[in-house]
Order: sequence, then structure tokens, then C-alpha cells
Amino acid sequence: MTTTTSIPVKRTSQSRLSTVDFSNLGFGNYISDHMLVAKYDNGTWQEPQIIPYGDLLMSPAMLSLHYGQAVFEGMKAFHMTDGAINIFRVERHHKRLNKSLARMCMPAISEDLFVNSLEAIVKADEAWIPKDNGSSLYLRPVVFASEAKLGVKVSDQYLFVILTSPVGPYFSKPVRLKVELEYVRAAEGGTGFAKCAGNYGGAFYPTQQAREQGFDQVIWTDAKEHKYIDESGAMNIMFLLNNKLVTPALSSSILDGVTRNTLITLAKDMGVTVEERKVSVDEIEKGLQNKTLTEAFGAGTAAVVSPIATINIQGTDYHLPDIKEDSFQLRVKNKLNEIRSGTAPDTYNWNHIIR
Ligand SMILES: *Cc1c(COP(=O)(O)O)cnc(C)c1O
Repeated sequence: MTTTTSIPVKRTSQSRLSTVDFSNLGFGNYISDHMLVAKYDNGTWQEPQIIPYGDLLMSPAMLSLHYGQAVFEGMKAFHMTDGAINIFRVERHHKRLNKSLARMCMPAISEDLFVNSLEAIVKADEAWIPKDNGSSLYLRPVVFASEAKLGVKVSDQYLFVILTSPVGPYFSKPVRLKVELEYVRAAEGGTGFAKCAGNYGGAFYPTQQAREQGFDQVIWTDAKEHKYIDESGAMNIMFLLNNKLVTPALSSSILDGVTRNTLITLAKDMGVTVEERKVSVDEIEKGLQNKTLTEAFGAGTAAVVSPIATINIQGTDYHLPDIKEDSFQLRVKNKLNEIRSGTAPDTYNWNHIIR
């Protein structure tokens, strides 16, 4: 399981660890002491290095700034109850990274390079992994075009960087969402399934508009008719409708979330019927009206499960019932936490234990 890595580590002489308030981490506020950097040049990935976190020297003609070749991943490393360190579902994140890279004409990263790099950076900043239950070290691999050239072209040079960040338990208070019926995040055939930077850049404006109207986020609908639900912000969306777990089927406009896949797998194990299919706004509105829709939540690495309190459809607010102890979303979240922390059997080999 533990591969021997020969990644050179240049340690910082001035650790910032003592400046971290581990009792109040929040999300993404701290970046750990070190980062991993690998260069792609001459048609191949060069040996990665771990160096102190800091600024990189780069050209303003760097192609990623102009033409948007930039993709990322987001996953978590934890202390398990027995003290082991676990990077959750690293193989699936690797496969998705390569799908994103392929869509953006960027070079693939081998599983060895990806996994060895993550293991090495997590070990280098092991002291930054929070110990509290529910906290974790968020891992952010990012790949971007680094060649300096103004002509419109696929870059011949890239950087692969991994940053890490200690993050606290994500107590997400139930959110107010607006079904977006004007703007679009992604169209079929576009880049919606890729975790590329531009998808976020394009989503900011409609999201900000929704914020000004008093919502936390939008629920994206299909680009053609605004009839079917895609996902919400940076999370996949799931509904408990007639006691079945209903979620939009994957398409080229939906990000294939690892958490989505995990929750679907666990739901089936819990005896819940799962339907992955087209979900229309009409169907959701009817379910909210006649109360057959009992739960709605976002699924993503950051919060795992993010309860939805209100869904606004064409100006009408529909409220969901408060979450109870036996709510599906709480039960499935607990189940996932048990597997990740090692208190329940890891039947699907999701835990990548590095030490
Ligand atoms: C990352 C992301 C998700 C959630 O994916 P996870 O693998 O579960 O973290 C959902 N939607 C979008 C747009 C995302 O970028």
C-alpha cells in the first residue's frame, strides 16, 4: 500500500504551524508549510519536488492566464481513530483528474506520480493534519499551462502543484437555493464534467446575483430548456423523493462527484432505492408542494452533505422540513464518517492508508 517515494523535500526553516488556530480553522484559510511542484516539459512530467510554500515566478504570457488550461482536484486526508493517515478515494480522484486534463488537451498524470506526490506532501506536512474529529487536511492538486506565448495554442509546458490546507468540521447550516432559469453553468458537449477553472469563473456572476437576492447558491438547470436540474454550485444535488434517493444522471454538463458516488453506493447498502435519471424542475416543484420531497442536499468533498432548507422556483420559496436524527442525509453521512475513520469496515477499499 505504501509506495516508497524518492521525492526530494526541501524543508522550510520557518514553520508557520504555531500561527494556526486549530480550534477555529474554517475552510481554506491556512496553507501548510510545503507544496509539491512538478514540471511538464519536452513531452514528459519531470521529477516532482517538495519545497516551502511560497510564490512562483511566472510569465504574464503564461498560456493558462489567457486561454484557460487549468484544472484541479479536491480531496481530504484524515487521522483515523487508530492514528493511521487516510487519503479518501485517491484513485477515483486520480481518474477524474485525467478526464478533466484530457478535455482541456492537457497531459495525463500517471497514478504513480499522483499518488506518490500526495503521499509525500501529506507526510511532509503531517503535523498540519488536524486531530479533531471532523477536521481534515484538504488536498488541492492543480495543473495549469505555464508556457509563455501569446498565440492561441495548446501549451507545451505545465506545472502540477499540490497545496494542502487544514480545515475544520464543516457545520453547514441549511442553505437557501434558487433554481437558475436564466444563466447556464455548462452545456452538453461543453466542459461541465471537467473540474476546470473556467467553470468557476463563469459561475461567479450568476451566483453573485443570486446572493444579492438573498440566496446562498443557485441550482443549475440544463442549458437548452432550463427544464432539468444539473447540480448546485460546487456540489451535486440529491433528493429524497417518495423515500427514494433521486439524483440527476451524469452527463457532460455535470461533474462526476466522488461524494455523489460514495453516497449512492452507501444508500444502496442501506436498502434505499436509488434513481439516477433526469430530474425536472416541475417534478421537484410538485414534490415540494405535495410533501413527497422530504429531503434535499448537496454532496461534495468539503461538506460531505450540505442540507438544503429552501428551494426557490420562479419566485416561490419552498421550504423543506428540518433535519431529524433519522434523516437519510445524517445517517448516510455518519456511515461515511465511520468508514473513513476506520470504525466501520471499508468494504470498497476507499481508504488509502499511507501510514
Ligand atoms: C468538485 C465538484 C463537485 C463535488 O465533487 P466531489 O468529488 O464530491 O468533491 C460537484 N460539482 C462541481 C461543479 C465540482 O467542482
